[in-house]
Amino acid sequence: MNKGVLSVDEALDRVLAGARAVAETETVPTLSAAGRVLAAAQRSTMNVPPLDNSAMDGYALRLADLKGAEPRLRVAQKILAGSVGGALAVGTAARIFTGAPIPEGADAVVMQEHVASEGEGIVVKKLPRPGEWIRRVGSDIREGDAILSAGTRLRPQDTGLAASIGIASLPVYRRVRLGLFFTGDELVMPGDPLPPGRIYNSNRFTLNGLAQAFDCEVRDYGIVPDSLDTTRQVLRRAASECDVIVTSGGVSVGDADFVKPAVEAEGELLMWRIAMKPGRPLAFGRVARASFIGLPGNPVSSFVTFLIFVRPFLLKTQGIAEVHPRAIQARADFDWPEPDARREFLRVKWNARGGLDLYPTQDSAVLTSTAWADGLVDNPAERAIRAGDLVKFLPYSELYR
Ligand code: AMP
Ligand code: MG
Repeated sequence: MNKGVLSVDEALDRVLAGARAVAETETVPTLSAAGRVLAAAQRSTMNVPPLDNSAMDGYALRLADLKGAEPRLRVAQKILAGSVGGALAVGTAARIFTGAPIPEGADAVVMQEHVASEGEGIVVKKLPRPGEWIRRVGSDIREGDAILSAGTRLRPQDTGLAASIGIASLPVYRRVRLGLFFTGDELVMPGDPLPPGRIYNSNRFTLNGLAQAFDCEVRDYGIVPDSLDTTRQVLRRAASECDVIVTSGGVSVGDADFVKPAVEAEGELLMWRIAMKPGRPLAFGRVARASFIGLPGNPVSSFVTFLIFVRPFLLKTQGIAEVHPRAIQARADFDWPEPDARREFLRVKWNARGGLDLYPTQDSAVLTSTAWADGLVDNPAERAIRAGDLVKFLPYSELYR
């Protein structure tokens, strides 16, 4: 690597070395725990299902009572889901519905389609196998089973699973407070007229959306003009209110780039040039007790560097154990004959043949590419791609979790 330039992995190692999980936990109702990070592993204190129950609408019976080709049984009771029947008398069947407990003595359920009614009884047209249509006690979860690991973000199905074993509240890490601000005198908010030479503040929307996708508590300080004093003021305020501050723009070495001197004046800063495309300048430091990450202003670069660096940093801060995205080996249905000397993150999309198409313009100012894409190909420096090659694909579905 060139002097003063870090590889993506070196920069990521340093970023992660600076991240500490929030210590505080809180207990929240399971109903509002989706998206939160579980702070303690959960075990089941019960069996699921808690009793043997029927997997079908039909008749519970005893196989030993079935004599002959089309045996007849008297229907002596009816068991609905939510009620418990009596023991099955010899020579009888119980009308039973899906989810209802199997009565004592029954050893199979015959589905209703396989019987004919006859007066008070039924004729069994197709003999069930032993245990047929019976869901056994504990067949899903056994008492004592580990069901959810600490350090994972709870998905809707995880909260459903916790609820299925009667867990009404869950211990989670407190939310990370993420401060955002956007530097640049050229920035204008959508809704306001756009004077010549100005641009809309698209990063505000992309970065707010990302912060929300990662379940942060967002403090948005808006547009900060290119001035050292104002930048320092906003930094001080954000540092007093947030765990992490993420900014866009102002980290190059241009005349109007005040983020670097402002962070240096208020805290500590490391400036890195990273051998990646898009991306390059990244600032990492600390202001008071808050961590600071300064992303490039360029919209594609700030999006990609957020996903590659801020995402794992945030996940670690949130208490998540596995912070690296899982990549997929996928087939490139495109050529990339002139690779860069830096590691590239190419915007690609799944096609109907199960391969990846490339957005035609990979210019880092073209935000359209990020919206069109389904994810990024992580392409090593200098590696040419030919159609048919397997490449390392990072789908957004992995990068957003
Ligand atoms: P900078 O890193 O401040 O030199 O900005 C690099 C490029 O990104 C410039 O073309 C800026 O106009 C553009 N840019 C900076 N901030 C934003 C933003 N919040 N939204 C959209 N574009 C931006
Ligand atoms: Mg700027």
